[in-house]
Amino acid sequence: MEVEKTMATKLYGAIEAGGTKFVCVLARDIDDVVAETRITTTTPAATLTAVVDFFATAQAVHGRIDAFGMGAFGPVDVRAGSPTWGRILDTPKPGWSGADLVGPLMAQFTCPVAIDTDVNAAALAEARYGAGRDCSSLTYVTVGTGIGGGAVLEGRSLQGMLHPEMGHIRVRRDPRDAEFAGICPFHGDCLEGLASGPAIVVRWGAPLDQLGNDHVAYSIIGNYLGQLAATIALMLSSERIVLGGGVMSNVALLPHIRRSTQDMLNAYLPAARSDDWLNRYIVLPGLADRSGRNGAISLAMSALQRLGTSD
Ligand code: ZN
Repeated sequence: MEVEKTMATKLYGAIEAGGTKFVCVLARDIDDVVAETRITTTTPAATLTAVVDFFATAQAVHGRIDAFGMGAFGPVDVRAGSPTWGRILDTPKPGWSGADLVGPLMAQFTCPVAIDTDVNAAALAEARYGAGRDCSSLTYVTVGTGIGGGAVLEGRSLQGMLHPEMGHIRVRRDPRDAEFAGICPFHGDCLEGLASGPAIVVRWGAPLDQLGNDHVAYSIIGNYLGQLAATIALMLSSERIVLGGGVMSNVALLPHIRRSTQDMLNAYLPAARSDDWLNRYIVLPGLADRSGRNGAISLAMSALQRLGTSD
């Protein structure tokens, strides 16, 4: 708490770097935003120039920026010390393979810059300020255009040879869904290929909110996402799983996911026998749609803290 109070006097640049838009905010603290803009994602050069211009102008008005934090779409190299740190890796998104997300900021500003995946950033924010404040470990999963997950343990996000790519795990096929080939360009019927927003539209001709709560899609998609939740519980032993993203705005999906998780675990984890426990274990974001933004602010705060310049 002491640290947060001290750092509240600082100024942070935070960027949610997405495939369709870059949301940039200048903030004095979590939820204390002093300037904000949305930049449409076009080419890397045009997009990042607009980002740098926004912060240069904001800095002239509000004072010197102390640190930047960025939560980025992937795949992105977030490994500290890597020669390609801060760069987008091979991606089907035209023009973005190899794009340097942090270089233009570091060329213009002299403060520390931190980058992590968008879902790791959201996981960090939910663990610190949202649905996982009472936990020391948490996994955040977004279910939208794609499916991605980020995990936090003791205040740090899980990174490794790359970063987790939870959306591309294989799931056991629901017998009611045997015909659909899946839409992942790499794997066909991986989880993302079966349960992402576009997979729902391709299969049933409309998104979940237009299908009606009693449509079989809820049960089938719930089955697949429950398999992911059970896998997270078994592999990462996270103390909480937070599910966000556009598909999860259909809250009627949540009971199906919890039921599927319970079925998959089949009482192997004793706590999972309890409905009450499951209702606390698999939850919606505590920060609503601010998880990503607050995650980027958290990254900036951590970057400054690591430098020991927060006094
Ligand atoms: Zn896949």
